[in-house]
Amino acid sequence: MGSVIYLDNNATTPVAPEVLEAMEPWLRGGFGNPSSGYSLGRAAAAAIVTARGQLAALAGCQPDEWIFTSGGTESINTAFHSALAMNPSKRHIVTSAVEHSATLRLCEHLEGQGFEVTRLTVDDHGQIDLDHLAASIRPDTALVSLLWANNETGVLWPLQNLAAGVQKTSAILHIDAVQAFGKIPLRLEGLGVHFMSFSGHKLHAPKGIGGLYANRRVPFTPLFRGTQENDRRGGTQNVSGIVGFGKAADLAASPFDPALRDRLESTLLAKIPGTIVNGDRAHRLPNTINLSFYGIDSGDALILLDERGLCCSAVSSCATGSGKPSHVLKAMGLTDTQAKSSLRLSLSRLTTAEEIARASEILPAVIAKLRAASPVDSPVFFS
Ligand code: PLP
Repeated sequence: MGSVIYLDNNATTPVAPEVLEAMEPWLRGGFGNPSSGYSLGRAAAAAIVTARGQLAALAGCQPDEWIFTSGGTESINTAFHSALAMNPSKRHIVTSAVEHSATLRLCEHLEGQGFEVTRLTVDDHGQIDLDHLAASIRPDTALVSLLWANNETGVLWPLQNLAAGVQKTSAILHIDAVQAFGKIPLRLEGLGVHFMSFSGHKLHAPKGIGGLYANRRVPFTPLFRGTQENDRRGGTQNVSGIVGFGKAADLAASPFDPALRDRLESTLLAKIPGTIVNGDRAHRLPNTINLSFYGIDSGDALILLDERGLCCSAVSSCATGSGKPSHVLKAMGLTDTQAKSSLRLSLSRLTTAEEIARASEILPAVIAKLRAASPVDSPVFFS
């Protein structure tokens, strides 16, 4: 693993050394159940209190508005469950065509249960139309569920404007902040969002720990019933994961510097002709690049890149291997060929300048090799 250049941090991030160090005592001597009344249990409960405070500080909310879950997918499912339980006569949901599969699949399931789902489209920069959003919300809209940052392109949607638009209606607003959390400053207090979903493994905590913000003024219906998390999420808490997530939140408190991403992007654009950047470059996560390279198939590129020790992805990691072009890039108006020639490169706070320098050599060589192997006459779509 030593020499691997890891540029797939939107899929998952390595656990930060400080996070691992913070977790370790809770996997060893501090193994108590946080619900137990003796000191071993009370120590675990106190560690959870600390972590909840660390996460609430990063999210800009009250600690009692933060519920620990097993990850982003569970948080999304819980937010939907709670929002739809609030007013069972409302059977309409507004979401977008470019959501993560966790939301897409849930919406497909709910359609099968008789819910009506409106999927908002995006423009060719991946941006959402706020007027279109406002027009799609009806008196029977129970829930609006939208991304903050897209996992494939990094495109950021205007969170404050989204919240302000939905606040004028009676619909509940859930935001999938799995990719943006820890990269973009957040202040939930007063924002007007009802639910927000988070995942630890996107910011150097381990897999299997997540969070759900539930606005204290909104009624909550648990998905998993039990006494933990103040009756809102049953199941013995993942103490070490929670402590690690808290530590990761502390590490994410400083702004994420886009300098290495920008350096990689400008180098690749200069070295590889016939390359386009997918997504709104002015409103993007500071760690993500999505590029299309004419004349190549991203599946072939991934094999050669892997052989040279570079990890990145073609579409969202959950869809890799499906052979289908990205639904996100398709929604932005790319053709199948364009979408299938795209790569996502995503950095983390642990990415080094040396890795970026090596990636800046490997990628142009791989693209050139693929183009030489099957030349395309005219890069028509890149004019
Ligand atoms: N939402 C987005 C935008 C994601 O990128 C992901 C994971 O890739 C998820 C939700 C699901 O999170 P988890 O893997 O923690 O279930």
